[in-house]
Amino acid sequence: MRDWSERHRLAGRRVGFVPTMGALHEGHLALVDEARRHSDVVVVSVFVNPLQFDVRADFDRYPRPIDDDLRACADAGVDAVYAPTAAAMYPPGFQTHVEPGPLAERLEGEHRPGHFRGVTTVVAKLFAAVRPHVAVFGQKDAQQLAVVRRMALDLDLGIEIVGMPTVREPDGLALSSRNRRLGPEQRAAAVVVSRALRSIEESLRQGTTDATVLVRRAAEVIDAEPLARLEHVEIVDPDTFEPVHTVDRPSLALAAVWFGEVRLIDNLLLSTG
Ligand code: AMP
Repeated sequence: MRDWSERHRLAGRRVGFVPTMGALHEGHLALVDEARRHSDVVVVSVFVNPLQFDVRADFDRYPRPIDDDLRACADAGVDAVYAPTAAAMYPPGFQTHVEPGPLAERLEGEHRPGHFRGVTTVVAKLFAAVRPHVAVFGQKDAQQLAVVRRMALDLDLGIEIVGMPTVREPDGLALSSRNRRLGPEQRAAAVVVSRALRSIEESLRQGTTDATVLVRRAAEVIDAEPLARLEHVEIVDPDTFEPVHTVDRPSLALAAVWFGEVRLIDNLLLSTG
């Protein structure tokens, strides 16, 4: 991978990079299109990273349709796919990790212990292999995007980190590889996640700025769906991910909701005024 990238760099080309865990969907392909706007050649990585899964069953059941993924990349004009094995990434004796800071402690970090340490470590390793000029991440995983941006700054990686808005199904459900694991009834029910976030936006527009009230209303929307089990819904500062008590400035509403054994996350940027 590094040799391939080096050849393009020596020829004066900018290398764009989209890291993924595969089971590619239109959200990933939007990232590829964005990467192409920022670079001359685009690399997609497909790697289900064991280090970032706190639940073994979630890792085992994560979809891995590699042939479909390779076809989707070819159709999208991706120049190279980097799909290392877990044994190549983490050979015996592997012991060095990238430790993220307070940004990674709350929300996803709190509910999925070790998750972001796994993310920063694998992204650092993928960056070292792909040597990109620019890497594109989805706002769908807002906290991940913030943690990766911080890592790139803190470790002087010299890689431009670009964020992309969330791509959604027509009914509002954020595209996710995990959606494939939903049964038809769960899939229909999953619309409550984005609907709950929209309800926050709507209440805010009608003048409610108390975050506790806004969050309670969103929780009621999710609780009304029998197939959904709310893990958390919160409103935070989009830069620090610290809780916001009064939504009088741009804030981020985030939710994590379980449908059976499938955990879905989504978020919505709330603008004010
Ligand atoms: P994943 O394969 O789920 O690890 O995601 C790989 C990249 O795609 C991450 O940067 C995600 O934030 C991004 N991504 C996932 N779902 C979406 C979506 N619905 N819209 C935009 N980007 C997404």
